[in-house]
Amino acid sequence: MDRSSAAAERVYNFSPGPAVLPLEVLQRARDELVALPGAGISVLEISHRSPPFDRILEETLASLRALLGIGSDHEVVFLQGGASLQFSMVPMNLLRGQEGPAEYIITGTWGQTGAKEARREGAVHVAWDGVATNYDRLPGPGEVRVAENAAYAHVTSNETIQGVQWKHEPDVGAVPLVCDCSSDFLSRPIDVSKYGLIYACAQKNAGIAGVTAVIIRKDLLARSRDDLPTMLDYRTHVKNGSRANTPPVFAIYVLGLVCEWIRERMGGLEGMARHNAAKARLLYDVLDASAGFYQGHSQPECRSDMNVTFKLRDESLEKEFVAGATPRGLIDLKGHRSVGGIRASIYNAMPVEGVRALRDYMLEFQKGRGA
Ligand SMILES: *Cc1c(COP(=O)(O)O)cnc(C)c1O
Repeated sequence: MDRSSAAAERVYNFSPGPAVLPLEVLQRARDELVALPGAGISVLEISHRSPPFDRILEETLASLRALLGIGSDHEVVFLQGGASLQFSMVPMNLLRGQEGPAEYIITGTWGQTGAKEARREGAVHVAWDGVATNYDRLPGPGEVRVAENAAYAHVTSNETIQGVQWKHEPDVGAVPLVCDCSSDFLSRPIDVSKYGLIYACAQKNAGIAGVTAVIIRKDLLARSRDDLPTMLDYRTHVKNGSRANTPPVFAIYVLGLVCEWIRERMGGLEGMARHNAAKARLLYDVLDASAGFYQGHSQPECRSDMNVTFKLRDESLEKEFVAGATPRGLIDLKGHRSVGGIRASIYNAMPVEGVRALRDYMLEFQKGRGA
């Protein structure tokens, strides 16, 4: 298969993660794969202590800092083990030895999983839990109560399975706010100064599996205790500039390319957010106009711009819906059973053309069913 036909073969990938990447990023990685400009060897072959990788790491860090407006109060490190390892590292570093509990605001499956791991480390208090309505909404004003002496308050900015997304930070007073940003990282601007710690795996919006970005306020590093395993201690990674051991070189390189794409092609995070909101609107408009043929999972004011979750009024049609989408080049639309049949993940790199194609298919599918 030659290069041009490979690009022409691409379908619209609605996978929740690993997910679609910008075509420009894939093409750039392809062009540079055999010999990284200036290095004469592949990025897959370079030492993590070589000058070319020094440059990649520096540029990726600088790009991330510029995009998110990260100030000097926060450190940024690139870790392995996915967002899932952060479910443990966060309480190991920030809860051990603290007086107050860790507060968890649970708006879906990932928040539940994070709280479960934190309980292995220390006292966890559930500040709010949306399980009663099957995680279809966020807490309203005044519904979240956190202890003043809490070690931290944990929130999931976008629940990937349920499709419920925070529009602004919850009010937790002076308690350090910790956020699992895995499925909306770099999809919109955030005010990092409001957070004690942010973590995000890259394979949803920001790149490929293998690297997890952790942004941590410097004063919180003082909480880590010396009895922690070296590699699970945030201080180790800060002190060694993300090179305490061999980092995921290629994943960091791709993260850098995605940051550059957002900055140069998408108008930074403001532009990215506009683009993402417009895409999501296209699909939610179909749900809202479908007279109940399509039923969105989340309450309208909590809807995610990343994962559009819905079921069909007639659940027996869902298999047919997914099967009929595939020949049109719309793949991986099957949702998670816990919320209903369909999930369209429309992360940063999903082009608007892909979303339009899905919208057109949804309209046609409904019409064909006489609804
Ligand atoms: C995907 C995801 C995770 C898990 O990430 P891994 O890198 O697979 O460990 C955690 N939280 C959220 C919100 C996610 O979307």
